[in-house]
Amino acid sequence: MAKTIAPYPGHTQFVFSTPLYSKFEISDEQVEEIFVHGVTIEGYCTKCEKDRVFKNKGDSRAALVSGLSGTKIKSEETVVFSCAFDPQHKIYVLPILDNGVIQKCGQLPSYAELLLAEDADLIKELDKKDRVEYAKAVGLAAHDAGIGAYAYLRRIFENLVYSQYEANKASNSWAEADFYKMRMSEKIQFLKNYLPPLLVQNSAAYGILSDGLHNLTEDDCLSFFPILRSGTLLILQQAREMKEQKKLEQQFTASINSKPKPKGSE
Ligand SMILES: [Zn+2]
Repeated sequence: MAKTIAPYPGHTQFVFSTPLYSKFEISDEQVEEIFVHGVTIEGYCTKCEKDRVFKNKGDSRAALVSGLSGTKIKSEETVVFSCAFDPQHKIYVLPILDNGVIQKCGQLPSYAELLLAEDADLIKELDKKDRVEYAKAVGLAAHDAGIGAYAYLRRIFENLVYSQYEANKASNSWAEADFYKMRMSEKIQFLKNYLPPLLVQNSAAYGILSDGLHNLTEDDCLSFFPILRSGTLLILQQAREMKEQKKLEQQFTASINSKPKPKGSE
């Protein structure tokens, strides 16, 4: 049976969130937008180290010289996106376009570089071993190795969830055996007061984590990878905010205590 090809996810997604060699069915209008007229997209600039607008010029020859349009346009040319802040900051994408199907065959900075640069700040919250494994997970996902990527990232994600259980079990007198028997979606619900609200609201999506790897295909793992990545980043973001809050409270207490007492107050 012929494999169905996913619909084109949009220009921004195609450049910033699509691993190499993914194939998509693209409409005539979208072909003309990206190859002929040029498009504006927004995503992480590794040079500016923040989100920026990027534009590509398009290529009027593609349509005008040959009089072709849409599905008739073939392209093996690199598409270059320039950062609006500094046009020297570029993203190169090599899409092969043929008969309404687009495949990403090359990218610089790579998908892994873009993701790791974007996540670099929050990843500092992980311990050293998990940071190394996070980089491996992203690298594997960038090369279409879904099961390997998923396995590394799942372990990091589970460790983060379990650490919330371990940190709070004594004060709540929770029974260990009950928690570890639950499905992942139930574990997240159980810890709802200790995990980011957005993760808790979407706990059902994380049910797939309870499935053994043998039940999942490369494609399942690859398509679940961005959800797992967002969940991981959300927990790290919350951990950081809690740490900062605690620091502010400590500074406040310290400054209250060091304040000279007004005369006659003793
Ligand atoms: Zn830039």
